[in-house]
Amino acid sequence: MDGTLLAIISGRDRPGVTAAVFDALRHTRAVVLDMEQLVVRGRLILAVLLGVDSADVGDVRAVVHEVATRVGMEVETLPGAPEEVAASRGRINVTVMGAPLPPGAVADLTVELAERGWNIDRIRRIASYPVTAVVFEGSGEQDVSGLRRSLAEKSRALGVDVAVEHAGLNRRGQRLIVMDVDSTVIQDEVIDLLAQAAGQGEAVAAITESAMHGQIDFAESLRRRVAALEGLPVQALAEVAGAVRLTPGARTLCRTLKRLGYHVCLVSGGFEEVVVPVTAELDVDRIRANRLEVANGRLTGRVLGDILDRAGKRRALEEFAAEFDVPLSRTIAVGDGANDIDMLDAAGLGVAFNAKPAVRDAADTSLTTPYLDSVLFLLGITRDEIEEADAADGLRVRHPR
Ligand SMILES: [Mg+2]
Repeated sequence: MDGTLLAIISGRDRPGVTAAVFDALRHTRAVVLDMEQLVVRGRLILAVLLGVDSADVGDVRAVVHEVATRVGMEVETLPGAPEEVAASRGRINVTVMGAPLPPGAVADLTVELAERGWNIDRIRRIASYPVTAVVFEGSGEQDVSGLRRSLAEKSRALGVDVAVEHAGLNRRGQRLIVMDVDSTVIQDEVIDLLAQAAGQGEAVAAITESAMHGQIDFAESLRRRVAALEGLPVQALAEVAGAVRLTPGARTLCRTLKRLGYHVCLVSGGFEEVVVPVTAELDVDRIRANRLEVANGRLTGRVLGDILDRAGKRRALEEFAAEFDVPLSRTIAVGDGANDIDMLDAAGLGVAFNAKPAVRDAADTSLTTPYLDSVLFLLGITRDEIEEADAADGLRVRHPR
């Protein structure tokens, strides 16, 4: 074969188009080198790259045009040189999410890919709800971290979320996800709710806010906040647990990852007494959190044992990974606060979830949508796959969250 012929066939989709095209080609000496087919709103686009001898190009072309006309499709054929075997190039997946997704964002991001020497090989939509998520499969230069940084910067200005990941086997296989709890898996900061119950709401909320931004040492700030809870009856813990709200998408995320065989773990600078009941329905594998000292039915204002802080969260990730025998490169960490930074940094994929700027800068990618199940799209899992799995399990709720 000393040549190629690219055939692009398009038109209103109907059953049998692809079959008719290849049935016609059966009687030629052409071979199939590559093909892609796509249907968008009932319009079919079929691209077929054929290997042909230059002497046969005219005949093969005639066959393709004849069959396309017969099935009522438009066709364009482009002869070319034999395909060069591509040199080993990096392959990446760039996931872009927005609600909505403006064309200008797609323009700016794809221009950046092109300018940095990345070719877009394929584009797929993986979700239309609750965000529009599209994956660009690219190949090209090896500087993935440079691309990640520049796209992260652009995405912030454009108001969309972008994740750049190496394609390939590392994305598959068993993985481990470790998530922060307060303002990540749940919408609240539990210590603030407890402080309100103790009549210390404002003072404690101010300390929480500066701790989340990393302005004060977490362990010290936690000691000060817990001290403000001294004398609070233990029943308040159950009352607060009852008031806590899971983040939209938390159930879908955990349910889907468990089905895929992921280990799902939670690490929290908050308190086991609240985290455990609040996340019971999520069926997580491990929970690590701080514990409150109780005496005579009341909080003493002290934390039991060592405080689980920024370094402790990272250690927890490493220990869970060792326990479940998952290499760190296959771990995912999700968090929003300054004390999540080390854990996000250590994980294979660190995801900042509606995070403070310092946390976003330290993460591989950040999500600004309020839906925790958007993490699934970063892993290439589509909305259709999630809903099909739910339907197969008898979950008939539309868009179960
Ligand atoms: Mg948090």
